[in-house]
Formats: sequence, C-alpha cells, structure tokens
Amino acid sequence: MNQQIFQTPIEYLRGVGTARAEVLRKELGISNFADLLRHFPYKYIDRTRFYKISETNADLPHVQIIVRLKSKEIVGEKHTKRLIAQVYDDTGLMELAWFQGIKWVEKLLIPGKAYIIFGKPGSFNGKAQMAHPEIEPYVAGGAKQSGNLKLQPVYNSTEKLKSFQLDSKGLQKLVAILLEQTSRDILETIPHHVLQKFKLVDRRVAYHNIHFPADSGTLQAATNRLKFEELFFIQFKMLKNKVQRAFKFKGNVFDIVGDYFNNFYNHKLPFDLTNAQKRVLKEIRLDTQRGIQMNRLLQGDVGSGKTVVALMSMLLAIDNGFQTCIMAPTEILANQHYQSIESLIDDEFLEVALLTGSTPAKRRRVIHEKLENGELKILIGTHALIEDKVQFKNLGFVVIDEQHRFGVEQRAKLWRKNVIPPHVLVMTATPIPRTLAMTLYGDLDVSVIDELPKGRKPIETLHFYESSRLRMFGFMKQEIAKGRQIYVVYPLIKESEKLDLKNLTDGIEVMSREFPLPQFRISIVHGKLSAADKDAEMQRFVKGETQIMVATTVIEVGVNVPNASVMIIENAERFGLSQLHQLRGRVGRGAEQSFCILMSTQKLSHDGKIRLDTMVKTNNGFEISEIDLQLRGPGNIEGTQQSGVLDLKLANLATDQQLLLAARKCVEEIFEQDPQLQLPENQLLNQASHTHNGGLSWDKIS
Ligand code: ADP
Ligand code: MG
Repeated sequence: MNQQIFQTPIEYLRGVGTARAEVLRKELGISNFADLLRHFPYKYIDRTRFYKISETNADLPHVQIIVRLKSKEIVGEKHTKRLIAQVYDDTGLMELAWFQGIKWVEKLLIPGKAYIIFGKPGSFNGKAQMAHPEIEPYVAGGAKQSGNLKLQPVYNSTEKLKSFQLDSKGLQKLVAILLEQTSRDILETIPHHVLQKFKLVDRRVAYHNIHFPADSGTLQAATNRLKFEELFFIQFKMLKNKVQRAFKFKGNVFDIVGDYFNNFYNHKLPFDLTNAQKRVLKEIRLDTQRGIQMNRLLQGDVGSGKTVVALMSMLLAIDNGFQTCIMAPTEILANQHYQSIESLIDDEFLEVALLTGSTPAKRRRVIHEKLENGELKILIGTHALIEDKVQFKNLGFVVIDEQHRFGVEQRAKLWRKNVIPPHVLVMTATPIPRTLAMTLYGDLDVSVIDELPKGRKPIETLHFYESSRLRMFGFMKQEIAKGRQIYVVYPLIKESEKLDLKNLTDGIEVMSREFPLPQFRISIVHGKLSAADKDAEMQRFVKGETQIMVATTVIEVGVNVPNASVMIIENAERFGLSQLHQLRGRVGRGAEQSFCILMSTQKLSHDGKIRLDTMVKTNNGFEISEIDLQLRGPGNIEGTQQSGVLDLKLANLATDQQLLLAARKCVEEIFEQDPQLQLPENQLLNQASHTHNGGLSWDKIS
C-alpha cells in the first residue's frame, strides 16, 4: 500500500517547485501532498443557474448570463487599450470590458450571436457591466455544453500567494494535477458494510468530487462522506481506547455496601438525594462491580449536588478497603471541596486531609506517611496529588474536578498510583452539549445530574439597559436593607485590559459615591491586587463585613457565600454565555430568592442580544451550552480550546450533530459485535493507525 506518496513534500508536485512550495507552506500550511488534497474549497460558484441582466447588481458574486452580442469595439491606445462589447438579453443591456487577451476574445465575438458570459457583475454610471468575463458561444439546449465545471471550486488564497500565480484558479490547477497523479492511491478506510449502510460514496470519489463536483448532488455526497469519515475516526479512536482499556486493565470490585456508606446515608446526610443523584450513584455502583476500571464523566450544573455523589462513591470505595482522593485544578477549589466535605463528615467519622502547594512540609510528611500506611482514606488536593512522592497504600477511587483543565496525561498518572488502576470520576460544572462531550470525552461514560435539589428557588435574571442604572441602584439598596450581600462584576478581557481597568476604576468610584461609608462597605477584588490583599478583601466579604463585592471575573471560581444573593454583571454583553452562567452560579446558594442583573449598553450585537435573552430565559446549563455552541462554534466553547480533537476540517459539531450521532452509534455497534475487530468485514479498521484527519493516516503512520 503506497500511502507514503501523500507525505511527499509539496515542491515535488508538478508546477510547484521550491519558491512556490515555500509560500504554500508559509501562507496555507501546505507542506505535503496530503495537505494540499485536504485544502478544500471554501465555496463553490454555481454555474448551474443563469441570471438575467436585470437581476444582476454589484452585490452578487460571480454569475452567468446568456446574452446576445450587439456590438464590439476596441478603444484606447497602448496600455489603455481595451475591448468593449455591448450585449443584451430580454431584460436589458450590459457592457463587457476586456483589458487583456483582447485579440483572442475579439475574434470570438460576432455580432448577433449568443454567448454565455461568466463573471462578477458591476455597474458603471448606472449601467450594468462586467469586466473580464469568461465567455463562450452559447449552444442551444446545452447547459452541459460547457466543458467547465458547473460548480467551480473557490480556494482560500492570499495576496502573497497570488503574486506567485496561486490564486484560487492556480490552486485549482495544482489540485487537479495532484488528483490525477495520486487518485489511485486514495484508498478506502471505512469498511464496506458501513459505506453501504450510510450510503456513503467511495473515498477516492469523495476526494475528487469535493474539489471538482459535477453538481450540487455529488458535492453533497462527497462532503457528507468526508465529514462522516472525520467523525467516525474520532469516535473509533475513543471507543477503541475504551475497549482496549477494558481488556487491558482490571477494575477493583466494590461489592460491599458497608458501614461508612450506610452510616453516612442514614445518619449524616442532611437532606434527601434528588432522583438524579440517586440515578448517578446507581450508575457508579454498577460500574464499580463489573471488574472493569470505571472512567466516568459527571456533568451537572453548579449547585446540582455533584460533591455529595462523589463523596458517597468514595465512601463505597472505603467500605471495600480502598483509599480515595479528589483532585481540583486550583487551591481555592481544593479548599472548597475540603470544607464542604468536612462539613458533611467529621473527623471522628473519617479523617480528611488537604494537600496543596502551600501545605507545609511538616504536615505534608504526615500526610505522605498516613497515605502509605493506609490510615488516611480521603485526600483532597491540587496537582500536588500526582507528584511521585505521593504514594497510596491502596488507591481505589479518584475524583477529578473540572476535567478540562487537566490533561489526559495527568489522568493517566493517577491511574498508575495503583497496580489495578483506580476508578475515575471526572466532574465538570461547565455543562457541555452532548455532541461535544461525545467528542471530547468519547472514551468516558457520561452521567448527568439534570435536576436541582428540591426547594431551590431559581435565580431570577433581569436584563437592564444602562438607562435603568438608577433603578438598579435602588434595587441594590433594597436588598442590602434586607441584609443581603451583592457581587458586582466587571469584565477584564486581555485585549482591552486598559479600557476595562478604567471602567472598573470608574465603576468603583460611582459605587463608592452611591454607597457611601459608613452605611455601606465595599470589598474590591481584581487581578492587580496581590494574592494576600485579594484574600483579605474576599474574607471581609465572606465574613459579612462588607455588603458589596466589586470584582473582575476572579470570583468566577471558588467563592461560596450563601448570603450573597445578588449578582450584577456590568457590560454583560461582553461576556460569553458560559461565563455568564458560571458567574450567575455564584448566587442562589442560600435560602433567599436570588437575582442576577445583566447590565448592558443600549446597542447590542445580534449575538449579544441572543446571549442576554438566553440568560433571562433559562437557568439550565445544558440548554445554555447548546446555544453557546450554535453561536460560537465548537472551537470556542469554554474548556475546549486546547483540545486538538476539535480541529475538524469539514465536520462542524454544531451543525453536523446528526452525522456525529450516526457515526458514534455505528462505531458502538461495531465494537459491540466485534470488540477485538476480528471479523473479516472489519479488517480495514485494523490495517493502520487511524486519525480523524484522514482515516488511514497520512500524517502519522505508526
Ligand atoms: P455542585 O458541586 O454540583 O456545584 P454541591 O455538591 O456543591 O454542588 O452542592 C451544592 C449545595 O447543595 C451544597 O450545599 C450541598 O450540600 C447541597 N445539596 C446537594 N444535594 C442536595 C440535595 N439533594 N438536597 C438539598 N441540598 C443538596
Ligand atoms: Mg461543587
């Protein structure tokens, strides 16, 4: 099998050479044959539709028109010389102009004859005109007369490339040469039975037709096939990992529900679990009885009660003789977990230890020792947990909070802390849409807590324009009079940091005037403060010494002040949806009715309006994440940026959800029927390493 050919450096393609290869590499990142083949057109010019002269205007892209020639004339001298032709159809007149190739075109033009012209329409002095159209004689009855493609591919190019004759047309020529030369080597990667089931076209055909489609039908079939391939192999890789893991690693079996679990459940748990919490616990319980290592993602909105579920799973592990840990991405979060778990169980019941970067060496030594001798059963901490020095006697269950900040490698490090890797529960408070979860965490099982504890009053969200600022101040005073505390959050975005800081300073000034001492007290927290000052200000608010906390988004994670029941977000239109949702999650933690007020300028962009409307309309993080995905596209969703998985060439996780679900299901069925890929019909899947960017990998052959 000659797949090496696709790694041939691009300069060896006929018509390229060193100089052009250099610009192709620099400008488009095209360095080998595969790259060029995968430089897909970003649009196609429709040559199936004919326009009338009266329908054209300067806003249209390239169009084609059937016209009859009225007259032609060569005007001007030397380099102002041009060929002007007057043409018409039954709706009007148009002027055509050529500045080059005059002689050749002039010969073609015979007054009274009909032609197809193709170009970008314009107007000059109110007259329809077109410069440098492509032109060919019109033959009655023949849309197919043109040897040209009906859908002409248009490729991304740059000024630099154009100076090397590599405009769209130039690139098109190179692709044509490449296809001619390598078409035989474009081999099928998807098993025949799958192609048949989903009516997918052959891979070679697809590559040809995506560049040079005969019509929109073949284009669609080609695009569909290649998108499917992309999604299929992501899922294939994910599920293959998962299946292999199941073969490779045994899992600890938790078959006892013992004293720790039961005592906690019967005597310590201060509330009834929600049905969603019970369901997830059941899922985890089943997982941990199968003898296979669990890798599960737990998604749930802020406040949905993930921590309790995690804790009860840990108690189950402890009942079966294992140690457990929770790893959080920041010290603040680790601290918070520590506190909330300590508040649920006391030291008499079970010792809980906190290990972070700032744990003193002496304390650290004690913790290390207790972990090694098995005395300590619950450890909570940051990255400090995965250091090699931290050794457990028998680690059986690991909770990772806020997965997206940890890499897969770090997950794996935790596994290696025991001979049989511990079960892993990944928790995230940033709900992401199902299709994204499938792609990012496709090798994990997913549990969802989609229900808030009973009695929670949904946060009421209001959107105020700047003109209602006084009303907002009035509202703040009213809530403060009731004894509540208030967050006021300002955006601080890197690109406009200076302006933002000015807004923040101005905002603080206005607030101080509106809420003067001694009646009112304000905490101020922003990124320019030292950690110690920040902490001190935060503490004043936490203790209730101040009623207002003015802050930049530093409070996004980590603060839990149940008495704070109002969140005011300034310049709310500048925040992303998931950020707004996260911020809003800071309130609604106490018994009081909570509010979120979104302040915005009068003038909102289309998307800005949708974001604010969405926030007002719903508290549901999953719904919000879906809308976020539609608005921003998958690459920009919180927490997905660093993930190469989402670097898709063709498929779009927002718009191709159906295709993704189909691909996922298909791969699942394959592994269900043939987990080791032994059936002859699946052999194609065993033949090479698979990556989503090419099926049979052109990039990395292993
Ligand atoms: P999450 O981690 O999902 O944001 P937490 O686990 O921190 O949520 O729970 C938020 C708060 O709700 C905590 O104070 C917790 O004790 C409480 N809580 C959790 N589950 C329930 C429940 N079923 N009923 C009432 N309160 C609950
Ligand atoms: Mg939590």
